[in-house]
Amino acid sequence: MAIKRTNSESLFSKAKNYFPGGVNSPVRAFKSVDGSPLFIKKGDGCMIWDEDDNQFIDFCCSWGPLILGHNHPNVYNKVVETLQNGSSFGAPTRLENELAELILQRNPFIDKIRFVSSGTEAVMSALRLARGYTEKDKVIKFDGCYHGHSDSLLVNAGSGLVTLGESSSAGVPASFAHETLVLPLNDIEALKACVEAYKDQIACAIIEPIPANNGLLLQEKTFLLALREICTENNILLFFDEVISGFRVAFAGAAEYYGIEPDLVTYGKIIGGGLPVGAYGAKKEIMARVSPDGNVYQAGTLSGNPVAMAAGIAQLTECAKPGFYEDQAQRTIDFIAPINAHAKDKGYDFEIVSIGSIFWLNFAGNKTIRKAQEINPDMTGFRHLHSALLERGIYLGPSGYEVGFVSLAHTPEILQKAAIMMCEALDAIYQ
Ligand SMILES: *Cc1c(COP(=O)(O)O)cnc(C)c1O
Repeated sequence: MAIKRTNSESLFSKAKNYFPGGVNSPVRAFKSVDGSPLFIKKGDGCMIWDEDDNQFIDFCCSWGPLILGHNHPNVYNKVVETLQNGSSFGAPTRLENELAELILQRNPFIDKIRFVSSGTEAVMSALRLARGYTEKDKVIKFDGCYHGHSDSLLVNAGSGLVTLGESSSAGVPASFAHETLVLPLNDIEALKACVEAYKDQIACAIIEPIPANNGLLLQEKTFLLALREICTENNILLFFDEVISGFRVAFAGAAEYYGIEPDLVTYGKIIGGGLPVGAYGAKKEIMARVSPDGNVYQAGTLSGNPVAMAAGIAQLTECAKPGFYEDQAQRTIDFIAPINAHAKDKGYDFEIVSIGSIFWLNFAGNKTIRKAQEINPDMTGFRHLHSALLERGIYLGPSGYEVGFVSLAHTPEILQKAAIMMCEALDAIYQ
């Protein structure tokens, strides 16, 4: 029984006249699932409603930012209260100090931070800082990690033995891409060989310590520890891109979760409470190179925007409460366990992989996947499940490579209901 899509379809056909592909960010276009995008008109707690009044339990949560769910009262109130005094000044406000204090007091490995307006901007700026600070040009990137869409990082592994990257988007000059060295995840030998080959040319190694933009490619801790050690030995900055994992698996992200200190870190998503905020941070001596103190230029008209800062402060205040992350992880485990037990019982080759409150649907359930190329590119299973879940009232991001998120608003009761719906949807697609 297909859901009603009349209003979403008519909005989408108009949108196609206005925007490339009808959207302002590609994955929203539903290219890899059935049907056209649902236009959302309202969110509350863990629920969303589309323009045809279909109601869904939302596991996309705006792709991660909404760790408290939609319209958490404290975030809502703080935003409205702040907005009453104006929306932007282009001058410092006390709210920037407050958000910085919240973050820096709980992050021992960074001394200073700079706010920007997106994850992409944070990574792009931090990369410039890494190059400016080290006076070296090359960067190591790992295949399967996403770091936003700045030129240096829209790069795939090249063919053959060389690790020089090839641009993965038209418009990125090959010469830029060649400054990026692309390595497989979870492979210490490949890392050592690359560092040996490009000795003294590598500014930093950027990684999602919890790669969660191309499946959930959980790394062995031994690999992350080796990466830390090899970077230290070779004067390479270790750059944790925690745009998705920061404030998600622990307040101080994967660095806290694994107990590994990066030299540079970027945040985004959760940091802005649903408004556009990104940030990069490092120790004093590195941040001293950022303008106006230093000669690495970086600026932004809307950087540190007071309304966005207010949303971030309200959200991170909740996240900083004792037991917040333990509770998130426990509710997620309790949600997933019966679904995985059901899949195993029925012999479906399916397993939900998770860490903290991030989860991913693995359609090769008997296999632990740590590298990008280990994912089966045939996403037919996901496509069918996505439709079967929409029909039952569950909204997942429309791509099998994307992860799902459990928020504070997903109560144990809701999650229990969602687990039953997931099992029914699995039965429907496997039978
Ligand atoms: C989402 C994401 C980005 C890009 O952030 P935007 O705000 O979409 O520009 C960069 N790095 C990682 C790890 C992300 O998850």
